[in-house]
Amino acid sequence: AVLLDGNLVEEGPAAQLQTQASHPYTRRLLGSVPSASGPRDPALLADSPAPDDLIPMLTVHKLCKRFPQGGLFRKRWLDAVRDLSFTLHKGEIIALVGASGSGKSTVARMICQLLPATSGEIRLGEIELNPRNAHQPQLRRRVQMIFQDPFASLNAIHSVRHHLARPLLRHRLCRRDELETRISVLLEEVGLTPAAEFIDKFPHEMSGGERQRVAIARVLAVEPDLIVADEPTSMLDLSIRIEILALLHRLRAQREVAFLFITHDLAAARYFADRILVLYEGRLVEESQAETLVSSPRHPYAQQLVAAASPGWLATQTNNSKDLP
Ligand code: ADP
Ligand code: MG
Repeated sequence: AVLLDGNLVEEGPAAQLQTQASHPYTRRLLGSVPSASGPRDPALLADSPAPDDLIPMLTVHKLCKRFPQGGLFRKRWLDAVRDLSFTLHKGEIIALVGASGSGKSTVARMICQLLPATSGEIRLGEIELNPRNAHQPQLRRRVQMIFQDPFASLNAIHSVRHHLARPLLRHRLCRRDELETRISVLLEEVGLTPAAEFIDKFPHEMSGGERQRVAIARVLAVEPDLIVADEPTSMLDLSIRIEILALLHRLRAQREVAFLFITHDLAAARYFADRILVLYEGRLVEESQAETLVSSPRHPYAQQLVAAASPGWLATQTNNSKDLP
């Protein structure tokens, strides 16, 4: 049953709606779910080409994170991230895909220096990020994070203006008398138009998608080289997800910013990323160009991900329970 603005606009058997929905809104909803298999839908996210010259921007080398687990007397350890190595280039989009608990957020937090690594190395260009230099504002500015829950990541007592003014002033990126104009330009850039309508709003006065756009504008304010986005669309309405991804896609082209896009949604990764890394129990099990991965996954877990993100996935569930390594 499909509800739009309080009206039931369509109702029918699930399988029938999937193929023969009559209401445009139902069709839009179904069309906004990308598929991980079959030919690429050209209408969904315009292909924004990966950069030609591959200049390493972020280098992760043998990164490990071990958490202590319970037990006051007999300490056990959990290896959340094991021996992870990859390189992200200037202007490139990498998707880090894996099930819940596979260590994705732990990787994100280590790269953003919110969590110290147990061992391994993270380099930003030539500079090694470590606890000694982690607090240098100049380094902090270059790597920014977008979180899953835009309501939690904004401060309920502050307006949009405050959220955007703070980073601009703190990093001395803007004079006080230019502030209003700079904030308006940022809001327009993330599609919050007209800016005047949003600048004095508070988080609770906006929709989830609008809040996430504010969070994106705040990140853009400091002109980062790398944006780490941890499940940035998973709390949003289906029909809005692809719009947010399209916005981020456009920013890559306009600002040459690189993305580490973290998601459990392989289909979204296929459309948004140039390359996909598959994480399974903290280990990198597969790394390929996005289209290569969805058309010919090699690792059994990657194969299962592709099947689960494709039309008719429900029918495949029974064949899918083969044990994973
Ligand atoms: P994901 O983001 O892929 O869902 P996480 O990186 O959040 O996975 O978690 C990976 C594993 O590490 C999980 O088993 C989780 O319980 C564990 N973990 C995460 N943070 C901590 C922590 N601060 N202390 C102990 N264990 C943690
Ligand atoms: Mg997570």
